[in-house]
Amino acid sequence: DHALNNADPEVHDIIRKEKERQFKSLELIASENFTSRAVMEAVGSCLTNKYSEGLPGKRYYGGNEHIDELETLCQERALAAFHLDGNKWGVNVQPLSGSPANFEVYTAILKPHDRIMGLDLPHGGHLSHGFMTPKRRVSGTSIYFESMPYRLDDLGLVDYDMLEKTAILFRPKLIIAGASAYPRDFDYPRMRKIADSVGAFLMMDMAHISGLVAASVVGDPFEYCDVVTTTTHKVNSLDNLNNIRGPRGGMIFFRKEPVLGVDLETAINNAVFPGLQGGPHNHTIGGLAVCLKHAQSPAFKTYQKQVIANCRALAQRLGELGYKLVSGGSDNHLVLVDVRPMGIDGARVEKILDLASITLNKNSVPGDKSALVPGGIRIGSPAMTTRGFKESEFVATAELIHEGVQVALEAKSLASGPKLQDFLKFVASPEFPLQDKLSDLRKRVE
Ligand code: PLP
Repeated sequence: DHALNNADPEVHDIIRKEKERQFKSLELIASENFTSRAVMEAVGSCLTNKYSEGLPGKRYYGGNEHIDELETLCQERALAAFHLDGNKWGVNVQPLSGSPANFEVYTAILKPHDRIMGLDLPHGGHLSHGFMTPKRRVSGTSIYFESMPYRLDDLGLVDYDMLEKTAILFRPKLIIAGASAYPRDFDYPRMRKIADSVGAFLMMDMAHISGLVAASVVGDPFEYCDVVTTTTHKVNSLDNLNNIRGPRGGMIFFRKEPVLGVDLETAINNAVFPGLQGGPHNHTIGGLAVCLKHAQSPAFKTYQKQVIANCRALAQRLGELGYKLVSGGSDNHLVLVDVRPMGIDGARVEKILDLASITLNKNSVPGDKSALVPGGIRIGSPAMTTRGFKESEFVATAELIHEGVQVALEAKSLASGPKLQDFLKFVASPEFPLQDKLSDLRKRVE
């Protein structure tokens, strides 16, 4: 018998445990969602067996007639999901994930060491937008390109004035909109103007909000940007109430008209293959096609509206409970909470909540010194909205998080020393005195 439970009970058991964890916990990681059975079926299919380097109709291997049909269908659905005219926009659905998609764009339209500007990581940006520290060029983007980040202002909003001033001095070739932990929309018209004033390309990485964009409940980056990238598995991953959510992957949308003298279509397709990738993951493209099918349905829009309504309810209750929210609230699917004024940090809160089956992540907030012990937590509404949560459940979620924070504060005050390690050791010890409080919280969560 070749079924997994017989062929490899060890891996089968790990998967079973992970499934149970996902089912029992409050899944609040802003970049995660639950994919559907239909998508899983495509991802776990024979499509994984096939090599198909190249593009539909132009492959380097035989036997690709069905793969061609699949990739073409996926491209058509991707354009339709974002209301794009196929004469004006094209898409490459082969990127293996979000970071490779971004790097492929950079290599397509820039030369090594050309200048880029993206939102700084501690201010909500993504590693692949050029993150570096004073000591180290952390991401490949900052190693191979010269990065000058822009940042948030004191209110926690993108500082467009500073972006403009810096762009005039730094003269980037590319400006990147988009973020991993920014609770507000981007001002695309303003960014377009800044990009035009210095002769830069404008790219939007909409990984976190692609579903909101497809449902037209946030601003439309396609109106203003030259290139738009996305992951396919996140948050508002292209989703609807028929339980269609994407597999892990990436997409790059590009204007068909040349921009700044560059034929984006050719440059981007060549950067994906043979530039940086080999054979496409056809099983992923199959799963992506499935998830894109329903992205235009009314139910899809209803879901995305609920994601936003739920996030607002969560933000409001957290505010009432005394929490400081970066930017003061949220217009999308996530809130970023600065827990420092509570006398605690994101790492300790994440740990305690994990033990109570509440899954979210520690996150840097403006003014932070350390990414390992940052001052904030990021909370997202998409996954639990998929599981049927409405506003009242998100109010209750805020209260459960608050209870967890109280436990974290108490544990911090009882730990043997001030270091995170002291705290983690204390929490893991069999004599941890707050065990009962935690298991009570966990039981209620589960
Ligand atoms: N872009 C943004 C805005 C993201 O938030 C992320 C992931 O968190 C990525 C890109 C990278 O995606 P991946 O993890 O699939 O490489």
